[in-house]
Amino acid sequence: SSPDASSKDLRAKLVLLGDSGVGKSCIVLRFVRGQFDPTSKVTVGASFLSQTLALEDSTIVKFEIWDTAGQERYAALAPLYYRGAAAAIVVYDITSPESFSKAQYWVKELQKHGSPGIVMVLVGNKADLHDNRSVSSQDAQDYAEKNNMFFIETSAKTADNINQLFEEIAKRLPRPTA
Ligand code: GDP
Ligand code: MG
Repeated sequence: SSPDASSKDLRAKLVLLGDSGVGKSCIVLRFVRGQFDPTSKVTVGASFLSQTLALEDSTIVKFEIWDTAGQERYAALAPLYYRGAAAAIVVYDITSPESFSKAQYWVKELQKHGSPGIVMVLVGNKADLHDNRSVSSQDAQDYAEKNNMFFIETSAKTADNINQLFEEIAKRLPRPTA
């Protein structure tokens, strides 16, 4: 018998890690609400936002997206946050080399303590600020390849590559075995 379409549906906990100020909350709000508000002190809230995405193969992925309320400052709390995550978006700001170093710290942390098989994506955000770029795309791409991660540059401000980011994650999620 052919499987019912809904049997292909996936649900995935997704977390964002990275220095504060790199644009994690703005990426989430752009994806979930289609908005960018440069004036608001954005923190999505205590728990999570969810958003579904339909893939070309008709799989429906429901992301449960956890945004931190500044806990990224407290490394000791991070394991509580990323526990059980199917995917992690590690974000830096392309104008900030310090944030790129911090991203590498989070990648190591996830490699050591994240769920086995967690899908990790490296994101260079604020791509609209290319005139002030100080992390080269090539360096980031090389780092991502070495660490078996997908790499993409985004702008939450212009929406550039935001949907693509989530689609790439969705495609990489492990499919339930029949
Ligand atoms: P978080 O601390 O990582 O959650 O960062 P936020 O999402 O709060 O964003 C920090 C600041 O960066 C805010 O002032 C945002 O308006 C700004 N910001 C976020 N994403 C972008 C972007 O893609 N381009 C530009 N130019 N600014 C951004
Ligand atoms: Mg935030």
